[in-house]
Amino acid sequence: MSVFEHPEFDSHEHVAFYHDKPSGLKAIIAVHNTNLGPALGGCRMWPYIDSQEALTDVLRLSKGMTYKSAMANLKLGGGKSVIIGDPRKQKSEDMMLAMGRFVDSLGGKYFTAEDSGIAVGDLKTMATQSKYITGVSAQYHYNNETPDGNPAPSTAYGVFTGLKASVEYALKTDLKGVRVAIQGVGHVGYRLAKHLHEHGAELFVTDIFPEGVERAVQEFGAQAVAPEKLYSLDVDVIAPCALGASINDETLPEIKAKVIAGAANNQLAKETMGEVLRQRGILYAPDYVINAGGVIDIYHQRMTSSSEALRTHIEQIGDTLKEIYQRAESDEKATNIVANVIAEERFNHKA
Ligand code: NAD
Repeated sequence: MSVFEHPEFDSHEHVAFYHDKPSGLKAIIAVHNTNLGPALGGCRMWPYIDSQEALTDVLRLSKGMTYKSAMANLKLGGGKSVIIGDPRKQKSEDMMLAMGRFVDSLGGKYFTAEDSGIAVGDLKTMATQSKYITGVSAQYHYNNETPDGNPAPSTAYGVFTGLKASVEYALKTDLKGVRVAIQGVGHVGYRLAKHLHEHGAELFVTDIFPEGVERAVQEFGAQAVAPEKLYSLDVDVIAPCALGASINDETLPEIKAKVIAGAANNQLAKETMGEVLRQRGILYAPDYVINAGGVIDIYHQRMTSSSEALRTHIEQIGDTLKEIYQRAESDEKATNIVANVIAEERFNHKA
């Protein structure tokens, strides 16, 4: 398998492969760039078809973390790890212990955290083997939620802050009476709905599971919408908080909203769709900028900080987005492209 010639290689500093025969662990750690600090990025366990697919995923994700941390003003680089296997069938304590040893073997160049298939409990097991495991003990919280290491409350607050800034920029208004359609009312989408409701927004929600929708209808007076109808609604804002690639060839022509601002990763099916959105006068909040509250939370878990410092840091997401919007407007470029340029300016220089 070629690594250096891989299309997603993009000058990665370090790519490590690990096999632990007794537990069956097969894992890859990718460290994209550590100019700003040690690499941070979650550990994903997924039933990849083969190691080539796992390598593609880990390289793409670790690069994304370099951009995310740079835009969140963190002294961190980008990295990611993947475990090849079905988390429901193949995960074991021995495997998580082995993964902890693998992370430790990089000597602090890479810190891991949660991602799909890996929960706080798994990280706690890994943490018995290494001090480079994060996301296990949130110390600070601004929202009276139990600080259990889950960063979703901080992600939701960051998305709320960014959505508010985007509405101020595009619609020149606060959130009172603004119509927001949320796709996916899970950990982040539900909390985002709560913040928006408290600030007077009118909500439309959808999910493939009815429980979350019913909760939002009862608690926030949201209107329930069928999943396939969400993108064509006559609303001001669409907040994708479900899966990636929700802005695609099918949904893009239907969008009437003037702002897209949500938590999901990789919202644009193709990078070129950012330019299409710009030409249609739709303001797009680059996903990795607006959803950085989680990584900011994890950063603060690792240092002597305070709930107030965490909150202030998350609120910078709104300022960063406004900087992107102003530059995109003056350079006549798409917001996703401008975000990449600013991130590269930041991480291409050593801290
Ligand atoms: P979650 O799984 O708790 O919630 C996602 C919700 O979307 C679920 O309720 C699911 O049923 C729903 N959903 C899935 N497909 C759908 C569809 N086609 N139509 C409507 N609803 C659908 O996940 P989460 O933690 O709330 O994260 C939401 C998104 O934000 C994900 O894309 C995630 O990668 C991203 N994100 C999350 C965090 C975090 O801290 N949790 C941080 C950064 C980015």
